[in-house]
Amino acid sequence: MLYRTVPKTGDRLSILGFGCMRFPEKSGKIDEERAIRQIRHAIDNGINYLDTAPAYHFGKSEQILGRALLEGYREKVRIATKLPHWEVRDPADMDRILTGQLATLKTGCIDYYLLHSMSKESWEKMERLGVLAFLDRAKRGGKIVNAGFSFHGTITAFKEIADAYDWQFCQIQYNFLDENNQAGTEGLMYAAGKNLAVMIMEPLRGGNLAGPVPDEIRRIWDEAPVKRSAAEWDLRWVWDHPEVTVVLSGMNEEAHIDENIRVAEAALPQSLVPDDLARIDRVKETYRRLMKVGCTGCGYCMPCPAGVDIPGCFALYNAHYLFPKDRSTKFHYIGRHGGLIGDVSYAGLCRQCGKCAKACTQHLPIPQLMKDVKSDMEGGMRIAVPVLKAGLWCMNRASRVRAFFTQEKKP
Ligand code: SF4
Ligand code: SF4
Repeated sequence: MLYRTVPKTGDRLSILGFGCMRFPEKSGKIDEERAIRQIRHAIDNGINYLDTAPAYHFGKSEQILGRALLEGYREKVRIATKLPHWEVRDPADMDRILTGQLATLKTGCIDYYLLHSMSKESWEKMERLGVLAFLDRAKRGGKIVNAGFSFHGTITAFKEIADAYDWQFCQIQYNFLDENNQAGTEGLMYAAGKNLAVMIMEPLRGGNLAGPVPDEIRRIWDEAPVKRSAAEWDLRWVWDHPEVTVVLSGMNEEAHIDENIRVAEAALPQSLVPDDLARIDRVKETYRRLMKVGCTGCGYCMPCPAGVDIPGCFALYNAHYLFPKDRSTKFHYIGRHGGLIGDVSYAGLCRQCGKCAKACTQHLPIPQLMKDVKSDMEGGMRIAVPVLKAGLWCMNRASRVRAFFTQEKKP
């Protein structure tokens, strides 16, 4: 296993991190025994960064990770978990949630604590509620060691958040199709320039880049003199950036874990040769050609006066057509742009003013395309958003009730 250094602290982290959001399942339930075996196997083979969150597996991820790290495993690793902003209504909620997480994870402190899924809107809310004072307090009290944030928003919001606190790290979505989406390459460089460790999520776009890829893409990979799987090409591209610290992979197949560990043993920064990089460029170009909308995610069309996240809507619209077997894309669209985990920014908000089209570097007819995105992606959204919000509200209430009874039981 290779390790990279957290710039501000000197902490050495395995370049492959274990993402605890996709544990193996059996008969519709998490196969806990197998998940624990997989986690311990990964640690035995050098992985020392494990990333979880209360939202993963509806709270079960933290519980299982806590149990997996018994019997001496806790001391070998760094735990990363997250503060769910959607469960925070007043400052006391933050302390209550963190206290619960420490108990669930069976640990005295969280090594890497993130504000989960920040965007402009969620950041402004958390700042208003005093999250920075909370982070200072948690650090002083030894409950967290390093503070960071995970991010799904625009590059402008990313820079604003990165500048707002003395973070040790951040977590961004990054892969060769998202160079200009969300924080993107610009955000990676900006964070690295501020000496932040950068953890990467979605290196394989939820597995889409590694699964059965389109035939044209398959042929380009197969022509390479070195034989690598699509997943290896994708991961090697991310690790090739020296600014990247850890790449998270949500692994739940033993073969994938071993394969990723093998790749991580050789993925030095700037180790791809010119022929590799040219091949990856061809793959990127082919993906772009196969996409429904030729948006490069450059962001020149932004901001939209109606609040539409134009490149974000196009990214998920394209994913919907590129990976038709992935039924979760519409769900992600509703979650991200319907206001569940980020700003309300869906295509249906478009007022057809045409401002964006004048600025588009690809000369896309954006107002017309917004109508297409709305028609293909937003069916049922008016019902789905309130239903999902109600579901989140119930989960929030349930966790408060659980916390209440947990407190009551304490001596
Ligand atoms: S045309 Fe629509 S998407 Fe473009 S700037 Fe105007 S409101 Fe926003
Ligand atoms: S300017 Fe055009 S290519 Fe760039 S993000 Fe906007 S829609 Fe996409």
